[in-house]
Amino acid sequence: MEVADETTYVKHHKAKIALILSAMRHFAAWLREEGWHVDYIMLEDAKNTGSFSGEIFRAAQRHGASAVRITEPGEWRVMKSLEGLKGPLDVPLDILPDDRFLCSLPEFYTWAQSRSTLRMENFYRQMRRKTGLLMEGDEPAGGQWNYDEENRAAPDKGMNPPPAPKFTPDAITRKVMEMVERRFGDHFGSLDHFGWPVTARQAQEALCAFIEDRLPSFGKYQDAMVHGSDDLFHSLLSTSINLGILDPLECCRRAQQAWLDGKVPLNAAEGFIRQIIGWREYIRGMYWLEMPELADANALGATRALPDFYWTGETDMRCVADCVRSTRENAHAHHIQRLMVLGNFALIAGVRPQEVEDWFLAVYADAYEWVELPNVAAMALWADKGRLATKPYAASGNYINKMSDYCGECTYAVSRKTGEGACPFNPLYWDFLVRNRKLLESNHRISRAYATWDRMKPERQREYLGSAKEVLDGLVPAANGWARD
Ligand code: FAD
Ligand code: SF4
Repeated sequence: MEVADETTYVKHHKAKIALILSAMRHFAAWLREEGWHVDYIMLEDAKNTGSFSGEIFRAAQRHGASAVRITEPGEWRVMKSLEGLKGPLDVPLDILPDDRFLCSLPEFYTWAQSRSTLRMENFYRQMRRKTGLLMEGDEPAGGQWNYDEENRAAPDKGMNPPPAPKFTPDAITRKVMEMVERRFGDHFGSLDHFGWPVTARQAQEALCAFIEDRLPSFGKYQDAMVHGSDDLFHSLLSTSINLGILDPLECCRRAQQAWLDGKVPLNAAEGFIRQIIGWREYIRGMYWLEMPELADANALGATRALPDFYWTGETDMRCVADCVRSTRENAHAHHIQRLMVLGNFALIAGVRPQEVEDWFLAVYADAYEWVELPNVAAMALWADKGRLATKPYAASGNYINKMSDYCGECTYAVSRKTGEGACPFNPLYWDFLVRNRKLLESNHRISRAYATWDRMKPERQREYLGSAKEVLDGLVPAANGWARD
């Protein structure tokens, strides 16, 4: 069922709506070809009630159902509304586990209960043992669990990653795109570059191309950013995995096989597998563990409105403008762009988490609350007070300069720390630390920064804080209505 509630509860990027509806329609068509009876409700069907609950009721009646069987939904909000159906629906409602994940929720809760701290690395090792991926007996392949420190190379000059395949929209997709333009014309983003896989076959093709062309360098350049080069060596598979048209375990097995065949280095295969059986599974488990509190979390008491350039891309900060451009054109930006540019700016500028969450949920084609919320609230904004991340990912312009080619041609000078023309990330970084000193200074991973601050002359400190104030005073809040009506 295509229901209006889901297309508009935040005003999703046009490409995200087109992707989801097209993938659903293709799946229904394939099932019919395979001989299944499919009862499919289109968004514009006259009797469509616009909600999951309404459509489940209607379907149960239409078919004289003796039971209703559904897969557990990905979002807390939907789970609550479906649980509310159990009384009114006069037939049993079975909720089955979601097999797009390798770790069931009961299994995750058992792991969480056995730990005093809930670190991803520990969970990841358990998942490596469970799946046997990159294991040699009880030991990790190569003798190390994690090759993260080999995954942080800066981009090389003239680096030219092979592009990810794009899939030309067919008749089904074009029809959906036409409807999206008509019904959701005021939503963020463009459909001009639409080329996401919308079928399991296309997702397979995308996986093969990734393993062959980009996985070999994926590990090394995982954290790099290059102006205008949106994907680098990333897989672009999150939309397919999250939709359920690509099996996460198969992705990992293919990466492992490429390593066994000597086609990719261990740090690439391990880095990719860690993202999927480590981060993806852990993030999903943390979502269900921490909801509903996570949605309101704001440990740092951030209150600023989201700046308008998150929607318009109109800013002289070259890094931010490029990430917003990619987001608008592709409904995608890669992990470090999300975390260390867009997330980092919102963190150090003190933007209210719920506004940042709405933005991230609306603009990315792979965004569903189970994955967006922990990544934004807990990882990028430290709103959960460090349940997920050991320290806030706050950084000055130095980090962005080291990991990208953004700064060279920026209007701002990354080497200027304060005053006119200084990179805004520089004073905001110190302002953030000073503002949040009470909460953060006992964190041993940040205490060195406070020691540096304390060694600065008071006049220098005043310059930093004065510059930060100027940056913050110059931010224009986003107009209402972008994320929600
Ligand atoms: P690759 O870099 O090729 O990674 C391979 C796969 O690993 C991804 O396809 C994805 O399935 C998985 N993965 C990697 N990191 C994560 C992670 N932190 N959490 C969950 N899965 C991960 N991912 C989403 O799927 N949806 C989101 O809404 C989303 N929002 C994010 C918001 C912020 C602030 C941050 C920092 C990260 C977010 N991520 C989200 C995680 C990550 O950025 C994307 O999964 C990734 O960029 C997708 O591109 P890719 O397929 O090329 O990933
Ligand atoms: Fe971004 Fe600052 Fe570099 Fe400009 S100088 S690209 S604002 S980090």
